[in-house]
Amino acid sequence: MARGKKIYEGKAKDLFEGPEPGTIIQYFKDDATAFNAEKRDVIDGKGVLNNRLSEYFMVGLGQIGVPTHFLKRLNMREQLVRACEIIPLEVIVRNYAAGSLAKRLGLEEGTQLPRPIVEYSYKDDSLGDPLVTEEYIAAFGWASQQDMDDILSIALRVNDFLAGVMYGVGIKLIDFKIEIGRVYEGDFQRLVVADEISPDSCRLWDIESGQKLDKDVFRRDLGNLTDAYSEVARRLGVLPKNATPMQKPTLIN
Ligand code: C5P
Repeated sequence: MARGKKIYEGKAKDLFEGPEPGTIIQYFKDDATAFNAEKRDVIDGKGVLNNRLSEYFMVGLGQIGVPTHFLKRLNMREQLVRACEIIPLEVIVRNYAAGSLAKRLGLEEGTQLPRPIVEYSYKDDSLGDPLVTEEYIAAFGWASQQDMDDILSIALRVNDFLAGVMYGVGIKLIDFKIEIGRVYEGDFQRLVVADEISPDSCRLWDIESGQKLDKDVFRRDLGNLTDAYSEVARRLGVLPKNATPMQKPTLIN
């Protein structure tokens, strides 16, 4: 499918104009960045895996009635999505303490939280995506109260879906980040899950061994990132045949 002009160059993805008005092509790169791009590398095959995994999660969400921007996967690295206006928030859902929450509150990583916690960061790389409250979001007009109610409900539904899917393949969903976009239909707007859902934006731990199968492998130099993502893809049955070597299957019972 013909790609139009490049409209955005991101850390892990580039966006191009799609073939029809209101569509965009997302191109998944192999670039990995962490700590606000202070650490960077190119990880062979990461883009291919994330394209597949994001497709898998977005299609599944669509099937349970959670609207997403996803239209179809085009090839190994590209997918066609609906153009939307991204709300400038990173919506983070946490089931277990890890990362910045563990640090902020002095919690041991892996401690189960009393209930899922939803938090918001303002999307601005130059500020390091600072944590913000709903008061900030309302005061600066980033989202209306109705949007925030919808975002909370979408975030919790995505959490239930992803946690269940992961549990089914022996993986604990520690936390994840989603982005929400507005799609305009005539005079109405609808909120959809946008951007991507992949091991770049989730924390995924093997239930039995606690092995990390997400971007912390890169952030913390814990091993081979493609192997970790391939393991997630293999367990979910979405590993592209020629992307990376197969590993020994894990018995889940
Ligand atoms: O670093 P922190 O603990 O706040 O991250 C929480 C979750 O959000 C992690 O799964 C992380 O991968 C994801 N995240 C992200 N993009 C960011 C910040 C966090 O995908 N810019």
